[in-house]
Amino acid sequence: MLLSSVEPCYAQRVSEFLAVNGWQGNLKLKADYVGKLSGLAGVDDYSFSWSADLQFRLEEFNPGGQFWRGKFTGGAVAVRHKNVNKGSDGCTLTTNILGEGLPLNPEFFLYVGPGNNYRFQNLGSSIQARVTLTTVCGGTTSVISNDRPENWFTSGLDRNVAFALPPMGLNLTGSGQYEMGVPIPLFNVLFGGTLPKLLADISWTFQPLNVDPLELVVDPTDYDNFRPKADLSGNPGNSISVTATLQTKSGKPSTQGATKFIFELLETSREPGIALNWPRDASDQDYDLRIAADAGFLIADAVKRQRAESLPKIPLATTSTVKIDSFDWGGWSRLKVTALLADGTSLVGYLRGRPEQTEIRLPKRTANSVIADSWKSENGVSGSDNSDDETDPIGDSNAGDGLTLYEEYRGFYESQVKIEGNPKKKDYFAINLVGSIGDGGLALFQRLSGLKVHKNLLQTELSSERVINKNVSAGPHRVNQHGVILKNNNSNGYAEAVSTTSLHPSTPKDFDFVGLPIAIASRPTQSQSVSYASASVAHELFHTVNVYHHGEGDKQVVWELGPDDTVLEGGQQIEVYREPSLNVTANVVADLKTRISKSREIWLGQKQGQHSGVENCVMRYDSSQAYEQSGSAGWRYSVTERPGALLCRFAEGTGVNASREPQIRYGDAARGRGACIDQILVNDAISPPVR
Ligand SMILES: [Zn+2]
Ligand SMILES: [Zn+2]
Repeated sequence: MLLSSVEPCYAQRVSEFLAVNGWQGNLKLKADYVGKLSGLAGVDDYSFSWSADLQFRLEEFNPGGQFWRGKFTGGAVAVRHKNVNKGSDGCTLTTNILGEGLPLNPEFFLYVGPGNNYRFQNLGSSIQARVTLTTVCGGTTSVISNDRPENWFTSGLDRNVAFALPPMGLNLTGSGQYEMGVPIPLFNVLFGGTLPKLLADISWTFQPLNVDPLELVVDPTDYDNFRPKADLSGNPGNSISVTATLQTKSGKPSTQGATKFIFELLETSREPGIALNWPRDASDQDYDLRIAADAGFLIADAVKRQRAESLPKIPLATTSTVKIDSFDWGGWSRLKVTALLADGTSLVGYLRGRPEQTEIRLPKRTANSVIADSWKSENGVSGSDNSDDETDPIGDSNAGDGLTLYEEYRGFYESQVKIEGNPKKKDYFAINLVGSIGDGGLALFQRLSGLKVHKNLLQTELSSERVINKNVSAGPHRVNQHGVILKNNNSNGYAEAVSTTSLHPSTPKDFDFVGLPIAIASRPTQSQSVSYASASVAHELFHTVNVYHHGEGDKQVVWELGPDDTVLEGGQQIEVYREPSLNVTANVVADLKTRISKSREIWLGQKQGQHSGVENCVMRYDSSQAYEQSGSAGWRYSVTERPGALLCRFAEGTGVNASREPQIRYGDAARGRGACIDQILVNDAISPPVR
């Protein structure tokens, strides 16, 4: 083990000592000298004695000077000095100095630093003493007494003498021998005699009264409510101010400042764009939260703005505030704050009230989530960021709408207005390029489906692949969810959901667009309040959420003029009736005679075909012109159908498809069809069931 390479950790010691509120301890001193000195001045018999055993308390801390000040509070000092000089003239001079008690000025100081050492100073180096001079000469005795301050302490120990701080612990102890002044000047010394060096054994102990170390507390302003925002202009959407404050553990203001405060944003999100669909097809990696420019700080990188150091202040600041700007509706980061103290040590800040959180989550959120707590509580949701579990509307019982909870939160722009997904409802996105026809259809679709339909997206608000949540990198993402485009496609008077990837109804991903004619005929529907155009558009939109027709198999046949004013269908003669029993074959013959081809195409509705099931459903076809009479081969009923205006909940036929006179037209919906409301599937993550 290379002990020599291990450096003692002195660097941190000064600040530990400076966290001590006060000190108690004692100071001891002992010196006794007895001797005899002969010379021209006769003989001196001397005895010098000093002793001290003093207790002190230092309770006043001066942070600027890094010292504590206090007094001797107990114990005593004693000086007992005596010299008897027998002169050659026969006279005797006896000097006595006696004093005992507390020092006259009992002030005492302890200094820590600079450097890893301490020093102390005793201003109470004298006590009151009585000096008695007794002269016996020629048979007469005279005594003179007076009181005066007498030194009892060494001049070798003042605040200039430094002692190393101990590597461990806070107790300061020390001892040494220090020279004392000569208490009674001796004439024999003046005439060449020598006294020994008067050394006192001095020892001291300082013990901390109690320790209240410093800490760094971080307060983000309005932390509970802050959630990141963005702005279309590229300016910050909002900001959060964060203040870091030095204080003692017991909450008292710090008397020490920091040479600098360092604010660092860690693992800040870099989601493309500012929301899931804006700007379109975004690919930037800009940091979503950045420290705002501020004259009081040195910002490490003017573009990234993830680290800032406060510039020095005089006197040193005990607090520092930065502003953090937000550039994304779904941004997140962690903030670490460090204070560097004058002695070179540092303190890492923690979120007030949460000592374990030294990397403060922005926005306020749980450790395993990047969604602001405030948004979750506002919306009454608590699922994981990845959850996609809405069940409203229940539809085909597949949960979710393809958007994770995080994506619902980060949100979208719709006609350049920021919106959020509905975390409790399934969302559906559409661009309407056909004006009021589309509006009416989308409104009806929303009402009948129960979906939350966002129908005002601009073309620039859906990616080139029609993905609504394309701007994603690290954000919780489940699937590329698609929007649907409504546009004119010059089709022949009817609407259609156009797919190049699916032969069936499916989820939005499979629909290139919903094509609509320039104008849709005005026909009455089953509801006065629903236009035929709206019902037609809604029908096609339901195909984009995997809703099927009520059945298949309706036939297109040709009625042609036969011999002897008869009507032929596939070469067989037929009779045509109007419900319930009026034979109108002659009318059909008259109509066919007006035609150049002497024929016309007819949609012949079939049992369990497209016209079956609930009569008043927008998914039911309305194009049947005739159907077969039961029990009468070759007899037809000529009919017109009225378009539906609702979305059916059952497969059983209603209206013309239920028991009636003259007969049930098309009957119940085909197996697996009908109950259209139970077919709705909007989630592009689910492989759509084929019916
Ligand atoms: Zn259809
Ligand atoms: Zn239906």
